[in-house]
Amino acid sequence: MKCPYCKIKFNSLLTLNVHKESCLYKDNPVQVDYEAIPYLELKSMVMSKGMDIKVANKKKTEIIEVLKEMED
Ligand SMILES: [Zn+2]
Repeated sequence: MKCPYCKIKFNSLLTLNVHKESCLYKDNPVQVDYEAIPYLELKSMVMSKGMDIKVANKKKTEIIEVLKEMED
């Protein structure tokens, strides 16, 4: 589980909830700028997350969509 604001990962719901109360990014959530990441790096990000999808033939925008869906 991770903080919805700053995307930092936590091991337990308890620590996550404590953190969320005081998260510095509460009012200004971090947005990953996928457009700024090179195409090959985006591909390896998808693959490193163990997604069972074929990224080889996908366009950059399609890969970004996949990564955004995985965030939730
Ligand atoms: Zn946070």
